[in-house]
Amino acid sequence: MRSGIGYDIHRLRKGRKLYLGGVLIPHDRGLAGHSDADAALHALCDAMLGAAGLKDIGYHFPDTDRRFKNVSSLKLLEHTGKLVKKAGFRLNNADITIIAERPKISAYADGMKKAIAAALGVKPGCIGIKATTNEGVGEIGRGKAISACAIATLKGKNK
Ligand code: MG
Repeated sequence: MRSGIGYDIHRLRKGRKLYLGGVLIPHDRGLAGHSDADAALHALCDAMLGAAGLKDIGYHFPDTDRRFKNVSSLKLLEHTGKLVKKAGFRLNNADITIIAERPKISAYADGMKKAIAAALGVKPGCIGIKATTNEGVGEIGRGKAISACAIATLKGKNK
């Protein structure tokens, strides 16, 4: 068994759609970034890559590469799943915590689990989604940014 952690944060901007955990969430602003800026999926990609010893998301999907401009992070996650498989591993489980003052995430958690599971070819029960606020502290607390952290465990190779 191998484990890896991931963390990401993106700023909220007007005129952007809010994608989190692969789900479009109605909100008056969205996360800014080169891709769709889905912080939850980026944290998960890094956790999986880390567990497999495969460097990080910035290495595999550089923000200087036009192919990744406004790309759905579900595509990045799908590709991450393939890289991990190629390295001889498969996902055992993953758990993500989203830190956002608003909007409320809980109603979308099941949709996120399904979207992530479909991208990785695993059962939704392998994916955990949790959400918390930052208790009004700092940029996240003022609703200016959303962050996420993730852990992934992989089975494979070193039995
Ligand atoms: Mg990111």
